Amino acid sequence: MISKVLSSSLVGIDGFIVDVEADLGRGLPAFDIVGLPDSAVKESKERVRTAIKNSGIEFPVKRITINLAPANIRKEGVYFDLPIALAILMCIDEIPSESIKDTVVVGELSLDGTIKPVNGVLSIIHSAKEQNYKKCIVPADNAQEAALVEEMEVIGADTLSNLISHLKKPSITPTKVDIAKLFSIRSSDFLDFSDVKGQENVKRAFEIAAAGMHNLIMVGPPGSGKTMMARRLPSILPDLTFEESIEITKIHSVAGLLKNNTSLITERPFRSPHHTISNSAMVGGGRIPRPGEVSLAHNGVLFLDELPEFQRNVLEELRQPLEDNEVTISRVNGTMTFPSNLMLVASCNPCPCGFHGYSDKCRCTENEINRYIGKISGPLLDRIDIQCEAAAVNYNDLAYSAKAESSAQIRERVVKAHKIQQRRYKDEPIYFNSQLSSSQVDKYCVLGNAERNMLKTAFEKFSLSMRAYHKILKIARTIADLDASEIINVRHVAEAIQLRNLDRQHII
Ligand SMILES: [Zn+2]
Repeated sequence: MISKVLSSSLVGIDGFIVDVEADLGRGLPAFDIVGLPDSAVKESKERVRTAIKNSGIEFPVKRITINLAPANIRKEGVYFDLPIALAILMCIDEIPSESIKDTVVVGELSLDGTIKPVNGVLSIIHSAKEQNYKKCIVPADNAQEAALVEEMEVIGADTLSNLISHLKKPSITPTKVDIAKLFSIRSSDFLDFSDVKGQENVKRAFEIAAAGMHNLIMVGPPGSGKTMMARRLPSILPDLTFEESIEITKIHSVAGLLKNNTSLITERPFRSPHHTISNSAMVGGGRIPRPGEVSLAHNGVLFLDELPEFQRNVLEELRQPLEDNEVTISRVNGTMTFPSNLMLVASCNPCPCGFHGYSDKCRCTENEINRYIGKISGPLLDRIDIQCEAAAVNYNDLAYSAKAESSAQIRERVVKAHKIQQRRYKDEPIYFNSQLSSSQVDKYCVLGNAERNMLKTAFEKFSLSMRAYHKILKIARTIADLDASEIINVRHVAEAIQLRNLDRQHII
């Protein structure tokens, strides 16, 4: 007798349907799995056999063949334990075949029959829904996550024996989640910009960066509060849309990073990997490819503290994800892509010791300084719109300044500027000013004569490169949006030129 159970596995962050077929034949007792299984899938034989026995059912003494179709895609991970067990139980009439018809089943079994959670359930069930499947059985711990997919009946099962009883006579209530309620939960433990006294120019640069989702680098000596300010950036970022929230949750689910009880990520991620990070941890990879930091920061911020300390090859690898907003990973059995639409924020000392230009303590040679800054120049710096300086903290700022503006006040302006961009680009495939292509810059960043002359003078005075030209226009567009001005005026252009600090100092 042959039975069939639907299951699924992952390629990148997309699920694909797998048919799990079981055949129980006569002959010497055996248990084989065919259809390109990886070692984790092959090991499922022992888990399935023991879990069935420990659920009080005699394991059939037959020649058992399990086939995973389609046979041309490698099956990875532990998703198939539960569907394999159900396919065998169906063959020996322990469960009625009608009970799991058109139902997608995933789950790992432990030896005692407990159904353990697996990674990537949101992606798997989301893809199943796109192929018109409407019912699924998932580990109880993944049920909330699966229930985010609308119009999907989700049965969350905790043990094999409970699931068997349910399939004979329904006893488990389908899991439902209140998406609107989940989506409205916001963290309140953000660090606040009101803690930062002084550094008004850097705070303003952050506000502009957040408003147009521009990449930003800040240069300054140690102790100027660069890291402190970067960590406050999430507090002024605009809300996620529901679609963005699902995209982020899928990536974190595939990476196995969803914390218990958080089935939906409702805040923009802020990732700050250490400078010793490897290539594959940064951009993604591994034998079973996992998303890297650039994808975990999708729709949010990737903060690289002390940028020149990162390995040069890691920084070079960042180029493609920043350019394409996605990462492509090649493997023997095909390629896969992970999204990486992020805002890059980096900090950097002006020289290896950190004090060049700020204190006579610096003994770094010109060569050392060039080598240090040289690590970030070129292609990576090309992707960064805003360059600002975080000067040493002024005593007067600390001692006498009034209470600084709160994050909520700054965020209000950012949100308004976002709305203006959403309206302006409703017919374009972009959301923010930072995403403007050069032809779109010509269309949306029109200058008057006075503004054009000012830009021309700046170019001559500071010998700016042509690549700086479009960046200044995009930043000026965002500054005008923060001002709720449709027209880009002289003040906007002047401030935008100020935000190309490194260009003006000829550090690069
Ligand atoms: Zn130095």
